[in-house]
Amino acid sequence: MTITPLMPVYPRCGVRPVRGEGSYLFGENGERYLDFASGIAVNLLGHGHPHLTKALQDQVATLMHVSNLYGSPQGEALAQRLVDTTFADTVFFTNSGAEAVECAIKTARRYHFASGNPQKNTLICFNNAFHGRTLGAISATNQEKMRDGFEPLLPGFTYAPFDDLAAAEALIDANTAGFLVEPVQGEGGIRPASQEFLKGLRALADQHDLMLVLDEVQCGVARTGTLYAHEQYGIVPDIMASAKGIGGGFPLGACLATEKAAKGMVIGTHGSTYGGNPLAMAAGNAVLDVILAPGFLEQVNATGQRLRAALEQLIPNHDHLFESVRGLGLMLGVKMKSDSRRFVAHARDHHGLLLVAAGENVVRVLPPLVIEQAHIDEFVSKMSEAARSYTLPSDD
Ligand SMILES: *Cc1c(COP(=O)(O)O)cnc(C)c1O
Repeated sequence: MTITPLMPVYPRCGVRPVRGEGSYLFGENGERYLDFASGIAVNLLGHGHPHLTKALQDQVATLMHVSNLYGSPQGEALAQRLVDTTFADTVFFTNSGAEAVECAIKTARRYHFASGNPQKNTLICFNNAFHGRTLGAISATNQEKMRDGFEPLLPGFTYAPFDDLAAAEALIDANTAGFLVEPVQGEGGIRPASQEFLKGLRALADQHDLMLVLDEVQCGVARTGTLYAHEQYGIVPDIMASAKGIGGGFPLGACLATEKAAKGMVIGTHGSTYGGNPLAMAAGNAVLDVILAPGFLEQVNATGQRLRAALEQLIPNHDHLFESVRGLGLMLGVKMKSDSRRFVAHARDHHGLLLVAAGENVVRVLPPLVIEQAHIDEFVSKMSEAARSYTLPSDD
């Protein structure tokens, strides 16, 4: 047998973390890594954050799981906090981002069904989008590498170039249910949408009675310096998927919606065995305790500005490698002039720096939101050492 016990769908590297502490990961032999990947924008509070750890320890010893057939004081509390701090009136909890997207797609379709327009079932999606790996989520992206061999996919999705309002508008027809879009594309290469684009989608949605569905799985939960990224665009969605950072490392996602948008989501229309169980709710509540505390978002913004400025200073010294810096808050990307995956591997294997590659040859810089100046300094020195010692592949 040559297949590995772990299904070989990931190109796993040689780093084998066994312990985490703040912004550092430690491998099996004690090797230390500066973690500016954060489990791909998940470990918002770094590793082993005392408040999150204690909340989980207390909850695990009290009550880990009960069915959604029972009342949930923990879930009501977390949902109420999200309702109080966002556009939403109601929340469905999931265990992952893809499931949050699934719930968002179902909510959008069901809105039109409940409004007497079941033919309005098609979402307009965007090139280079990433929405997760379920059949619904891969149907919402037109990237071949995720779809090949999994056809037939779900009908009811069309695709326009990202950030192209006229192209999105041109796709609207009698079957359109709404738009599904990441305000800042993550896997696609840290591409923030323009103000005009998101504002334009909002206006089109209002004009044609369509649902504006945002996928904030990667860019949400304080990552960009506001609780959700769309706040910086001066718009609100009808429906939004959140996950990744929302559990601080515990598997948790959420589909948030306005009362109007959720009008079709009545008893029996959706569900999840684990979704919103007490342990997950303890994680979500502990994360919110930290990120909603006065001054936290200001801190993320200030740190984001310092990190961005530091990256921008690196570019002229290594302009054969780096092209530009992009992103919002602490969701940053460095556009490279060559293969970003190869550079990420070099920084990891030779300089103990963890980053994540993304589309368009972008290196994603996604540190925990709690980093301090010393981590920025260490990052800058590792990044410039990595750039200095990096040799571009020869053409042969
Ligand atoms: C990661 C991600 C998802 C999928 O989340 P999973 O937890 O892996 O299912 C969906 N949308 C976006 C924008 C993401 O970055």
